[in-house]
Amino acid sequence: MTRWDPGDPVIVREVWQGKVWTVRALTVVKDEPNLLALYQAVGTPWKRPCGPDGHPIRLPDQPWHLEDALLREDTLRLILPGQAHSVFLIWQQRWNLTCWYINLEEPFRRTSIGFDYMDQTLDIVVEPDMASWRWKDEDEFEEAQAKGIYSREQALEIRKEGERALERLLARKPPFDERWENWRPDAAWRRPEIGARWQEGE
Ligand SMILES: [Mg+2]
Repeated sequence: MTRWDPGDPVIVREVWQGKVWTVRALTVVKDEPNLLALYQAVGTPWKRPCGPDGHPIRLPDQPWHLEDALLREDTLRLILPGQAHSVFLIWQQRWNLTCWYINLEEPFRRTSIGFDYMDQTLDIVVEPDMASWRWKDEDEFEEAQAKGIYSREQALEIRKEGERALERLLARKPPFDERWENWRPDAAWRRPEIGARWQEGE
């Protein structure tokens, strides 16, 4: 499948057992053999899963429908080929770097409209100066295992992927070798819309 150009809008979906779990409209920063970089602007629309009572849910252990919401932070998402995690840089107002963030997830798959994957619950939050870090959502990760969302083997592999990502962080290997905190979006980029095409991807 062909690569995207910088500035292209793409639809990134999380898909659980064939059903769409979230939808985000992102902008391609770079789509090259050694790195995929995507930008999510503050205020960008997304679709999030809500349970039968209408409240947002975090695990796909019950029926859900999608509701529209707005993303609250500027995020740059960096993905090395074949890796089962993304590295986020998350900024709050006026480009204050809140953290680096290692998001454990299925490797991205290309679709005709962008990319599909599924989040894997466990995350690692890295301080902006990279001097310290902590696992995040370990309770929820345990809960997901208890509910059968991940097998024991899958759970071990997810954690191992996190440990490999931390080794890369400590060794300052890509993407931790560049000063991505100084990156800023091209002012000419338009905010992408989700529209109706999120249902079309194959
Ligand atoms: Mg996550």
